[in-house]
Amino acid sequence: MGIAVENVSKHYGNFRAVDDVSLEIKTGSLVALLGPSGSGKSTLLRMIAGLEIPDAGQIWLVGENATHRSVQERNIGFVFQHYALFKHLTVRENIAFAMELRKANKQRTRQRVEELLELVQLKGFGDRYPSQLSGGQRQRVALARALAVQPRILLLDEPFGALDAKVRKDLRAWLRNLHSEVHVTTVFVTHDQEEAMEVADEIVVMNQGRIEQVGSPAYIYDNPATPFVMSFIGPVNVLPGNAGIAPNRGKVSPSDRVFLRPHDVLIEIEAGDDTTSVIVDRIIHLGWEIRAELALQSGERINAFLSRDQFRKLELQEGQRVYVKPKQAKVFSGAYALT
Ligand code: ADP
Ligand code: MG
Repeated sequence: MGIAVENVSKHYGNFRAVDDVSLEIKTGSLVALLGPSGSGKSTLLRMIAGLEIPDAGQIWLVGENATHRSVQERNIGFVFQHYALFKHLTVRENIAFAMELRKANKQRTRQRVEELLELVQLKGFGDRYPSQLSGGQRQRVALARALAVQPRILLLDEPFGALDAKVRKDLRAWLRNLHSEVHVTTVFVTHDQEEAMEVADEIVVMNQGRIEQVGSPAYIYDNPATPFVMSFIGPVNVLPGNAGIAPNRGKVSPSDRVFLRPHDVLIEIEAGDDTTSVIVDRIIHLGWEIRAELALQSGERINAFLSRDQFRKLELQEGQRVYVKPKQAKVFSGAYALT
């Protein structure tokens, strides 16, 4: 096991930032901690790093109880959103910094820095200063610097958070490739579900200091364990149980909530015995995807996402009456308010 977190809690005053969390992360995997802002992701990561001490519980790193080990003893590489490089040092000097601190052999250090420059695709940038690099290049230098001392574990806290959308997308793919070359156990914090799904082998969904679910991106998307996970991972319509839409024509009590993904709304022109009548209120064209806003008789509104082909076949018009049924949906019992 690369990392094991056992019943770890951390309070700030009366506030539980991390509340009795247990988690196992396999050696060599790339795991995303995903959750909204304030859900405890950074606090958990900082406890794994040794930057915060848990109030309760234990942290094991590579089979060793590290709960009371110092940051230095843990041999971990970090990259944060604003992990400032040393301004007065060149890229090469920044990467070599930790190795020199440890008085590594000079020849070996030079060689390792060149390997790392190649790994992060910055060969030829070694003599530049951080101010002469783009934001994406700087974060790649930060990663090379973190990897220089061959850490057993790499912790990344929203490393691409401050970069613009296009650069972030490129860096996700780049990180994925880097990980398949380096294979260091990596924990990646993000609040962006798409980023987590694209980058990670496994996603840990956090909410209010607790873990809601752990699983592969595909598993979590198809089998969300809680209303929170279903709403956080991808778009969803939430309907009261008496809105006339139920999966498999099952019975749903009015206090239940039906969670229906917009891609799972089937639209038909003719009424069937398991369909519900709706009016097409608005049609929005988004390139390859068409979004239809539908008004139910109960007064509720739902979104349906269609491909262009489906849309053309149906010849949908605003104001038209059509009939819908769920391809699949999930029912969660009891009152549930979306926050
Ligand atoms: P995330 O990284 O998921 O956004 P954090 O772990 O940073 O969440 O924070 C979780 C909660 O703990 C937040 O409500 C935050 O305000 C609180 N918190 C974090 N660090 C401290 C601190 N040093 N003192 C007081 N409260 C803190
Ligand atoms: Mg954070």
